[in-house]
Amino acid sequence: MNKKSNKNYGFDTHCIHTGHDVLETNTITPPIYQSVAYPYESAEYAAQLFRYEIEGFMYGRMDNPTNHMLEERVAAVELTEKALATGSGMSAIFMACIHLMEKGDSFVTSGKIYGGSNKLFTDTLPRLGFNPVFVEDSTKIESWSDAINENTKFVYVETPSNPNLFIGDIPALAKLAHEHEIPLMVDNTVATPALQQPVNLGADIVVHSATKYLSGNSSCISGVIAGSAEYINDIRERDYRNIGPSISPFNSWLLLLGMETLSLRMNKHCENSLALAEFLEDHTKVESVQYPGLPSHPQHELAKKQLKGFSGLMSFVTKGELEDAKNVINAFELIIHTGHLGSTKTLATHPAFTTHQQLTQKERLAIGIPDTMIRMSVGLEDIDDLIEDMDKALSKIK
Ligand code: PLP
Repeated sequence: MNKKSNKNYGFDTHCIHTGHDVLETNTITPPIYQSVAYPYESAEYAAQLFRYEIEGFMYGRMDNPTNHMLEERVAAVELTEKALATGSGMSAIFMACIHLMEKGDSFVTSGKIYGGSNKLFTDTLPRLGFNPVFVEDSTKIESWSDAINENTKFVYVETPSNPNLFIGDIPALAKLAHEHEIPLMVDNTVATPALQQPVNLGADIVVHSATKYLSGNSSCISGVIAGSAEYINDIRERDYRNIGPSISPFNSWLLLLGMETLSLRMNKHCENSLALAEFLEDHTKVESVQYPGLPSHPQHELAKKQLKGFSGLMSFVTKGELEDAKNVINAFELIIHTGHLGSTKTLATHPAFTTHQQLTQKERLAIGIPDTMIRMSVGLEDIDDLIEDMDKALSKIK
């Protein structure tokens, strides 16, 4: 089906070619198969297809040729047997988690995760009978170990985490999970496989908000799950088919194009971010900076071991009060104020008012999000322009 999928290719070659056979489609960019159904060549063929005895396309909710190209590409770069694309990062996480549990089962996670994932785990999943256990101190492996019991079906870690840049120790967590014969699932949205391949570090399942760096241009809401063929096939044949969180072929196409430049973009995100983090750390109006690339980050050594680069996400806490952080956000001219990350453009958010407003102030503080925290997703612009915009905005603090 796909002559261009060669396991021996390097990372960038996979990002550019895998999944798409240019001679087979007679196009050099992947075609968009904008079709909800596919003709079955015979009654016998259809019967076999519906019994999953042969490979082929059944119906657009379950599969699609453009989506399939993307799934092959993601599996290649995440070093898994298979991948499954979904309509959003949240639906990827939802599908990946519920598929591992029966009613009453549980999983272990840190509270240092994206606010939407936190709400999924504390609101939606418990209503369905799935009860996550949050570890007390995510930096201590004993805490994770203490949280595991006979109902635990998997361990979940988001690393680096959004927005507080917690670094989960993937090899240690994988070892712990495997001692209990359960898988480790990693949300790899912030690092991307260009900077961290969780499976190489021992993880079993990888999830992404592909909306972010994988696509890179802020042009499509999308998600992916990567894992073993057995796990991915089983999700596709049951929950994915039953619930219907499929991605549109157009969004898969945007992702296929976006992934072609993934490592080039990630390198520049890393370079710009380190420069901006160093500038912020020296600034008199800044209380603290959280960026795994700075030696002041409490897990800098672990980040250095686990990541090829420190990505583009950082947060800083301004001096002063809530009002001062608001004034900084309002003063940006080049930097865009929005609740998103992983774009070519530099973006800033005030988590207390946006991504984490669903949590109470007490809940936010418990996971390290003070009211004066500003989260930055550093883009690919000229660094001097970014520093100038930041400096002007910080001058608004009294
Ligand atoms: N995981 C992380 C780390 C995120 O930052 C986000 C969104 O910001 C999500 C998952 C959810 O992704 P989506 O917005 O694509 O549903």
